Amino acid sequence: MDSELNKKIELSIKILKNSKNIVALTGAGISTESGIPDFRSPGTGLWTKNDPMKYASIDAFLENPASYWERAIDPSGLGNKILDSEPSKSHLALAELEKIGLLKSVITQNIDNLHQKAGNTDVIELHGTIFTAHCMNCKTRYKRRHVLEWVKEGELPPLCKKDGCEGILKSDTILFGESLPQDALSRAIKISRNCDCMIVLGSSLVVTPAAHLPILAVKNGAELIIINIQKTPKDHLARIVINQKIGKVIPKIIDKLKD
Ligand SMILES: [Zn+2]
Repeated sequence: MDSELNKKIELSIKILKNSKNIVALTGAGISTESGIPDFRSPGTGLWTKNDPMKYASIDAFLENPASYWERAIDPSGLGNKILDSEPSKSHLALAELEKIGLLKSVITQNIDNLHQKAGNTDVIELHGTIFTAHCMNCKTRYKRRHVLEWVKEGELPPLCKKDGCEGILKSDTILFGESLPQDALSRAIKISRNCDCMIVLGSSLVVTPAAHLPILAVKNGAELIIINIQKTPKDHLARIVINQKIGKVIPKIIDKLKD
């Protein structure tokens, strides 16, 4: 490993050790290591191949909810891949960072539940989660796995099971054209303002509001560490920028930190 990278790793460890209130901000890059494709990577990204407005917009869903749920039961589809995916060593490293008392919260742009599977207990999901669905009428929440069973039995679109409701069920993932969950957003803003160190992992920091959160953190005096395979528009705000695969860096940092 080159010495410049080693220096950055050593400095990151020092900063993390001296922090009392660390927040992680994560994006698709941390989940590619769990086999989930990066939605926005140039060339390989999902939305460069498929028209998002056709497959993942709220208008398309409302026009034909049955079609969304029909695709959802495709065993080789992305949804089922995500449901079955396992945390990467980077997810596990963040869970360790919480266990040793340094990491307070994870703010994520991912919908895959992998931080929770790894063991993090305070995860703020800016773009919702694929693991649950809700009734568009009465807001009752259902596990996606249950909804998929109903769809497999031919219920298209799947409907709310509350007496007399029969509202259409919609995944808790945020579709294009939908507003973000306000509770998650306001907590993310508050936490970003209050942290003394923010570590960004695998986010290209181009999608708002995630792209604004590091600005809030730095304005309030927090240290900023960015680990992402590509450069980001917020690199100039960071104390340390490491353009590497996260899996090659963060598990090493956490291992050394524990020594
Ligand atoms: Zn309902």
